[in-house]
Amino acid sequence: MRFGSADKNPVSPSLGDLLPYNQRMVGRPRILVIADNSADGTLIQSLLDMYNYEVVHADGAIDAVSQANEDRVDVTIICSQCIEDVSSLCVQVRAASAFEDVPVVFVLHEEVDGAVMMEAQYYGALACLNFSASEYQLMAQVYNLVRIKFLQDELKQRMADLEYMASTDPLTGLYNRRFCFRRLEEELARSARANSELTLIYLDIDHFKPFNDTYGHAAGDKILKCVSQTISSTLRRSDVFGRIGGEEFLILLPATSEDVGKIIAERLREKVSECMVAFETHELHCTISCGVYCCDHAEALNVDQAVHCADVALYQAKERGRNRVVVYSRGMLAS
Ligand code: GH3
Ligand code: MG
Ligand code: MG
Repeated sequence: MRFGSADKNPVSPSLGDLLPYNQRMVGRPRILVIADNSADGTLIQSLLDMYNYEVVHADGAIDAVSQANEDRVDVTIICSQCIEDVSSLCVQVRAASAFEDVPVVFVLHEEVDGAVMMEAQYYGALACLNFSASEYQLMAQVYNLVRIKFLQDELKQRMADLEYMASTDPLTGLYNRRFCFRRLEEELARSARANSELTLIYLDIDHFKPFNDTYGHAAGDKILKCVSQTISSTLRRSDVFGRIGGEEFLILLPATSEDVGKIIAERLREKVSECMVAFETHELHCTISCGVYCCDHAEALNVDQAVHCADVALYQAKERGRNRVVVYSRGMLAS
C-alpha cells in the first residue's frame, strides 16, 4: 500500500472537517481491523490513528465477534493475501448479529480485478481495495462506509422512535389502542393454534368525569397515571396492558383461565381502591370496574367480538353498582 503520511499533503483535511455529522455521533468512529499479518494491521492502524479513528484489532472471527459484542463497530477492515483467505472469515463475522449492519471493506495483496470485486461483494464486502491503493483511497472508502453506517443507525433509531410513538399512549406510557388491538389479534390466533386460554379484562375508572369537573383536567391526568402504574406493577411481564380510551384500559392475559383472570381482576380492583392520589391539597381516591372474558375459540372470535364480550361484562359491573368485577356469561345484556 502506498501509504504516505497525510501531513505531506498541505490540504489534507482532518477527520473533524470531513465528518459534518460528528457532533451527533457517540465518540469517534470505531474501526475493527482483522489482519492475518500483523505488519499489515499495524500499517492500517497507524493510518487510521492519523485520521483520528478509534481502532480495535481482532485476531480472527471469534475475537471479532466478542469485540463487537463489547462495543459498537462502525466499519470492519479485513486484510489478507487473497479473496479465498477472507471469504470464510467474512461469512462467520457477518453471521453474528453484532455485525448485522456493519460495513466491511477488504484490503487484499492479490490484484483486485472485476472477478475479485464481484466475489468480495458476494461475501458482503461493500468495498474491496488492493494494498497498492493509496492511503487516500482507503480513507475515502472508510469515510463513506462510516457515513453509511451512521445514516443506517440514525434511520434505525428513527424507525424505533416512530414505532414507539405509534404504539404508546403519551400520558401513561402504556400501549395504545392500536397496539392492544393488534396484539389481541395475534394472541387470539396464537391461543387458538396452541389451544390455550386467553382472558381479557376490560376496565374503566368509576365516576371519573367528576374528578375533572371538580379538580380540573390535571387532577384527572394524575389519576390516570396512578391507576396505570398501580396496575402495571401488579401484572406479569407477559401480560399486555394498554389504555384504549379516555379512562378505559384493556389487559390481555395469555395462558390464563377465566377463574385466574377473575382473581387477577379482583386484585387490581382492590389495589386501585387502596390508592391515594395527592393533588394540590387534596387526597383523591378512585375505584375501577372490570369485565372479564375468557375467549371461547369454539366460536372462532375476532378482535371486535372478543372486546365486545369483555365490554358487556364491564357494563354489567357498572350496572351492579361499580367497584366490582363481573365475568362474562352468555345471555348478559349489552349496553
Ligand atoms: P362511569 O363510572 O360510568 O365510567 O362514569 P365516568 O364519569 O367515569 O364516565 P364518562 O364516560 O362519563 O367520563 C369519562 C371522562 O374521561 C370524560 C372525559 O372528559 C375524561 N377523559 C378522557 N380522556 C381524558 C384524559 O386524557 N385526561 C383527563 N383528565 N380526562 C379524560
Ligand atoms: Mg368511567
Ligand atoms: Mg368510560
